[in-house]
Parts: sequence; structure tokens; C-alpha cells
Amino acid sequence: MNFDLPPELAELQSTVRRIAQGKVKPRAREIDSTGEYPADIFGVFRDAGLLGLCIPEEFGGSGAGILGLTLAIEEVAKYSNSAALMLLLTRLPTGPVMIAGSVEQQERYLPGIAEGRTRAAFGLSEAQAGSDVMGMRTRAVPDPGDEGGWILNGTKCWMSGVREADWYTVFAKTSDPTSRAHDSITGFIVERAWDGVEVGRTDHKMGVRGVDTGELLLSDVRVPAANVIGEVGGFRLAMLGLNSMRPIVAARGIGLAEGALMYATEYVKERSAFGKTIADMQGIQWEIAKCAVDIEAARLLTYRSAWLADQGKFTKEWVPYLSMAKYHATELAVRASGLAVQLLGAAGYMEDHPTELWYRDAKQLTIVEGTSQVQLGLIAKGVLDHDLWWD
Ligand SMILES: Cc1cc2nc3c(=O)[nH]c(=O)nc-3n(C[C@H](O)[C@H](O)[C@H](O)COP(=O)(O)OP(=O)(O)OC[C@H]3O[C@@H](n4cnc5c(N)ncnc54)[C@H](O)[C@@H]3O)c2cc1C
Repeated sequence: MNFDLPPELAELQSTVRRIAQGKVKPRAREIDSTGEYPADIFGVFRDAGLLGLCIPEEFGGSGAGILGLTLAIEEVAKYSNSAALMLLLTRLPTGPVMIAGSVEQQERYLPGIAEGRTRAAFGLSEAQAGSDVMGMRTRAVPDPGDEGGWILNGTKCWMSGVREADWYTVFAKTSDPTSRAHDSITGFIVERAWDGVEVGRTDHKMGVRGVDTGELLLSDVRVPAANVIGEVGGFRLAMLGLNSMRPIVAARGIGLAEGALMYATEYVKERSAFGKTIADMQGIQWEIAKCAVDIEAARLLTYRSAWLADQGKFTKEWVPYLSMAKYHATELAVRASGLAVQLLGAAGYMEDHPTELWYRDAKQLTIVEGTSQVQLGLIAKGVLDHDLWWD
């Protein structure tokens, strides 16, 4: 067993750390307060080759894999979860295309993402169907004018990066809309420029304000057969895509927790009360220690899950390991950012410090891409089925 990162990933980590400190950190507060998509940060990521980390070299990426992207996101999330989400969006919508897409789809859609010429977003959720995705109403019916083609109608919601995206990975019911059978849902690549594709309302959010979320409206959108991802009725693909994303979302949590704890630790070393510094108090030291233990446990879970996902181990039997990373790291982000606010006292509650921003940003992480409760359900199922067993 070797816990050291391979040299190329260690170098990537230190390069992104420098970029995060030099370019992302100074912009983090402004990104939040303006709520504007930080095009300059996108340019920094593009120029540093970070948009193609998880995309194979033959499609213009660097092939650093899910572990490479996880490491990069951890560094960036120390300062800005909006910027970290921009990196995550290089994988969320492209995952299904890499897992089950045709070579033509991969050649057509992946190089643009890797080179920063195009952006994509992922549409699974609907207003009435978040955790319960089988309740989706977006419907695809065969296109009578195009053999193998489909016509899509419906509204996707809370879609991250919907406004900036050039194309979308969208899931729709391809058989009886009331069916809850897994083979009733299919994945499609839908281009923004096509007739009937429109961005609807965008949301006012408590955090992660630099990347918009909102509705994608699909009205009689004609999708050619060439844009069906994998098989018709291949809903399993959505789950495989999400399973393989668990370490990447977890990285947003561990980075945020590390940023918050480091900041609060430096503060309590300077702040005095009762004739000593706050850091001299044992009650405070224990909170710092417990959070540090949590962070290292989350990092181990996250790196292992990224390593598993890079080996294609994101099918059912690996789900508990992947979900554990997402669950633990994102719940940790909420706890650590809460601790950071508390350690700074009133100062931590004010916009003079980044703690209140981390606190608002962290909460998104326990909701997106499968809530904490959904992850607990998946972990429990893994234990009940003996996918995770110690005997
Ligand atoms: C900022 C943001 C960005 C997002 N980006 C995207 C995106 O890019 N693409 C996309 O498709 N979606 C996106 N989402 C949607 C996200 O995936 C859903 O919000 C999430 O899946 C939960 O669905 P829901 O909000 O409908 O909650 P619900 O499913 O209504 O759940 C409400 C509560 O009930 C709990 N619950 C639900 N089912 C169970 C159960 N079986 N057992 C126990 N508790 C349960 C949940 O954990 C939660 O606490 C985004 C959401 C947010 C907040």
C-alpha cells in the first residue's frame, strides 16, 4: 500500500495550489457579492489546462482522471466553491458521454470542454423530482420525421451552469411517463442552439453564487439518433455517472473544510481573551483537533473513492465506498464552516471575513448530487447486501 501521490499528481496539486492562492482567493468575495459568473477564472483554468483534467488525452484532455480533478477541486475549494464548481462541471455532464457515449459523440463534444471552447451542464432534476428522479416528467417520443430521432418536452430545474452551457446532458422518459421502471429513462445530448431549447428562470441562492442554477425549457426539441447517449432505456447510466462523481463533489467539501479550519486557526492564535489567546484554551484546541481528524478521514475516503472510480469501480458493489466519501466530506464542510464562524465570534458572522461565505456555500454540498439522506440510504443498502462487509 502506498499513500503517496504519484509525482505527476503531486505536481498538479502544487500547481493548482499556487493558482488557487494567487488567482482564486483574491476574487472569492467579489464572485459571491456580484453573483456574476467569473469569466476571468474560467480563463485562468483554461490557460492552466485544468478544464480537461478528467478527459482522456485522445479527446484533448490531460487524462489526470477523477483523482486529478479531485485534487484540483480540493485546492480551489479552499477559497471559492463557485470556482470549484466550474471545474466540477467539466465532468458532471461529460461523465455519461465518457462512460457510454459513442466515439462520434466523444470526438464531437469532449475536446471543446477540455480546451475551454464550450461548456456543458447536467439535467436530471425537475421541480417534483429531485431525490426521486423516477418521477421526472420530461418526455421523449419517437420523431416521426427522423428514423431513430426523438422529440423532447419538459422542464429541468436547478441546473448548475445552465446559462453558460453550450450543450446539456439531459434525461427524459422514453416510455410510459408514469412508469417507474429504470428502462423508461434515456440520456440525450441536447445543444443550446437547437430550436425549442431555452434557459428559463434562474434561482436566487444562499451560496455558490458565481455559477447560476436555473431551468432548462425543452419545447418540441428534435434530437437525432446520434445524440442518444448509450442505449435507449439506459437510466442506469445516470446513476453510474453520479456514482463516479461522488469523490469530485466530496473534494468541494474537504477543500472548503480545510480552508475554513486553516483560517480560523490563524485567527484564534491572534485573538486574546481572559489574558491569553483563544488558541491557548483547551476547549478550543479540542474543537480544532476534532475537525482536523474529520478532515483527514474525509480526505482518505475521498482519495480512495477517486482511485476506485478511475479504475471503473463505480458500479453497484462500489457504491457504499463512493457515497461514504460524498456524505462524510460534505457534512464535514457544514460542520467545519460552522466551527470557523464560531471561533471568530461576531467577526466570523460579518462579511469582513470569508467564514460566513464558507458557511453559506457549504450547505449546498449536502443537497446536490444526492442528499446526505440519499447517500446514507445507499451506504445502508451496501451493508445490508454485503457489498460492504468486513468478514
Ligand atoms: C445549488 C444547487 C445546484 C444543483 N445543480 C443541479 C444540476 O446541475 N443538475 C441537476 O439535475 N440537479 C441539480 N440540483 C438539484 C439536486 O440534485 C436536488 O436538489 C437533489 O437531488 C435533492 O432533490 P430535492 O431538492 O428535490 O429534494 P427532495 O428530494 O424533495 O428531498 C427533500 C428532503 O427529503 C429527503 N429525502 C428524500 N428522499 C428521501 C429518502 N428516501 N429517505 C430519507 N430522506 C429522503 C432529502 O434528503 C431532503 O432532505 C441542484 C441543487 C442545488 C441546491
